[in-house]
Amino acid sequence: MLAQSAVLVVGTTTTPADLADVTSFAFDVAERLGLAVHVAVGMDADVTRYEGVVLDGTWLDSVASTVLGTEAQDADLFCIPAADLYAFAAEKSCRWCGEAGRVAPRRTRDGWTAPMHAACATGIRHASKVESLTSV
Ligand SMILES: [Zn+2]
Repeated sequence: MLAQSAVLVVGTTTTPADLADVTSFAFDVAERLGLAVHVAVGMDADVTRYEGVVLDGTWLDSVASTVLGTEAQDADLFCIPAADLYAFAAEKSCRWCGEAGRVAPRRTRDGWTAPMHAACATGIRHASKVESLTSV
């Protein structure tokens, strides 16, 4: 178990150029989700060591995406394609308190919240109001 929660970024890593692309995507993932990221090279990664998987592209863009994405779902972790990640991008203010700042979708047991501050998400988690926000 990692001390810090991290997500695994999966894409094509066959050539150095592919790997560079996936790595730059991984920086985007870290920025948008506010989580640490690791890039999976090949298919040897143990997805259960991560919070979940973000795919560079779709499920079908690489063998690793299909295999590791499926493993993540089998392990009851989240697995989201790049398009879903970018769907969150427009938000600049916190859905919970309404103030601007460093907001990002927060992972909960059941899915993702709307973009919000880490502190706000923590408060919500404690208040058990997550369900009302995940459907936004
Ligand atoms: Zn907030």
